[in-house]
Amino acid sequence: MAAILACDRAKDNAQAQGATPPPASDTTLLTPLPLTEGPPPTFDGDRALQYVKDIVKFGPRPIGSANHTRVEDYLLARLKDDTVEQDAFTADTPEGKFPVHNIVAKFPGTKDGIIVVASHYDTNYPFRKTSFVGANDGGSSSALLLELANQLRGKPRAGYSVWLVWDDAEESVKPDTEVPFESDSLYGIRHLAEKWEADGTLKKVKAFLLADMVGDADLNIDRDSNSTPWLEDVVYEAATRLGYQSHFFGRSAGMLDDHLPFMKRGVPAADLIDFEYGYNNVFWHSTQDTVDKLSPKSLAIVGGVVLETVRILDKMEPLPPK
Ligand SMILES: [Zn+2]
Repeated sequence: MAAILACDRAKDNAQAQGATPPPASDTTLLTPLPLTEGPPPTFDGDRALQYVKDIVKFGPRPIGSANHTRVEDYLLARLKDDTVEQDAFTADTPEGKFPVHNIVAKFPGTKDGIIVVASHYDTNYPFRKTSFVGANDGGSSSALLLELANQLRGKPRAGYSVWLVWDDAEESVKPDTEVPFESDSLYGIRHLAEKWEADGTLKKVKAFLLADMVGDADLNIDRDSNSTPWLEDVVYEAATRLGYQSHFFGRSAGMLDDHLPFMKRGVPAADLIDFEYGYNNVFWHSTQDTVDKLSPKSLAIVGGVVLETVRILDKMEPLPPK
């Protein structure tokens, strides 16, 4: 994750004073959201945390590095029994050309349409010569998707197909102070959005759920004002049904993140991100972004909420427009 537009401190203060944060929305869902059937989703937070440990053990994994290739191989090995689409290309960046490699694992459903759940897996390029391993930033969400794959694998879905996307080269190559974030980031996901727009896949994508920095032991997922309000409402409802709403939407922020290329193309999107990682976000893009700051419970909360969100979306007919 690389940038933030604005942060609603007033809401922070309101929450600190004990006010209930409203799931404020520009568009209100007209009907109550449909109920889901069966037991709540399962998600193994301990196994997900082990995946984070595996990923950071490779060391920094900026684009173009040997460690990056090792992490690609690690992800692909976990997905060896799944249907995987690879989107490999060369990105032209302010630091030169780099190989970029998106990985997509597809879990088919019976409904016509796709729900994408995405996470970047690269680490910040400007920090490549430091010990920065991005345990939370890139590691937590990539691990979350691996555990989602475990939960989806081998179980026929009665709803939409779910495609898990490990996208690459999300991080800026130059410091944002030198090159604006918008023109020097999100290389992988921009390419995938363009590719899917060209080949017709994009029309089938009903929702784009992004996970980013989801492992903080002190978990507070922001309400993102750059996401689709009704989809954020569905996420909040899913969290509420699982009893996790106190970890959601106590703050509001405008995130510049991997969902933007899909948002721009009319795909409803929600960025699940906790952008207060340590006091004043001090661990973000810091060598202190290490596994000891994370908890399996936080991964299980976000993983469960993603799965419950998908289950609610499966039942919403028709889905609201963007
Ligand atoms: Zn980052």
